[in-house]
Amino acid sequence: MAAHIVFLGPPASGKGTQGRRLAEERGLSYLSTGALLRSALRDQSPLGEQARPYLDRGEFVPDEIMVPMVLEWTNSQAHGCLLDGFPRTVEQAKALDETLGEEVRAIVLHVPDDELRRRVSCRLECENCHRVATEGEGENCPRCAGLLTARADDVAENFEKRLLAFRKLVIPTITYYCDQGRARIVNGMGSPEEVYERVQG
Ligand code: AMP
Repeated sequence: MAAHIVFLGPPASGKGTQGRRLAEERGLSYLSTGALLRSALRDQSPLGEQARPYLDRGEFVPDEIMVPMVLEWTNSQAHGCLLDGFPRTVEQAKALDETLGEEVRAIVLHVPDDELRRRVSCRLECENCHRVATEGEGENCPRCAGLLTARADDVAENFEKRLLAFRKLVIPTITYYCDQGRARIVNGMGSPEEVYERVQG
């Protein structure tokens, strides 16, 4: 049976870093919905223009936009996939179950708020491949030489709004998976290496 994994957690909890690595090592297709939206914004594509006001305000993009976009992608991933940043609402989780079946498993990264604030204040991401940089990597991505820059939405006010949206919408989504015994909560504190040991289970 194909493995389908979703990574859930507050902003800056390490979903991208851990999700990317797990997908690579398990041979799963990887999609970060946040990175996809940021690329669309940069390209000024129709999706980017639709999503822009929500991202600028630190709000979630509506389910009507997100669900068809992600399901179109997952439908072509028969051998298994890892989603980073989707689902973020119970509606999105239910739509995913309808498409992939209930073998979807959730990995939830838990990190205290103060540590999230510290991480976001110094987070850099590759403009080209969207990999999150580890501290001290310099100005260019060691993988693709793309420029490492701060995310436009990582300013303090926007971040606090995203944290509130996490509490309001993602926590019920985590509860949805927990109630069905399909979630594993992982302590996201420590070095990326230490967290990855726990992610592997
Ligand atoms: P991320 O890179 O995962 O932190 O996502 C950045 C932003 O993209 C979020 O704050 C949302 O505005 C938007 N976004 C990403 N994934 C979703 C989703 N599944 N549902 C709604 N909005 C999303």
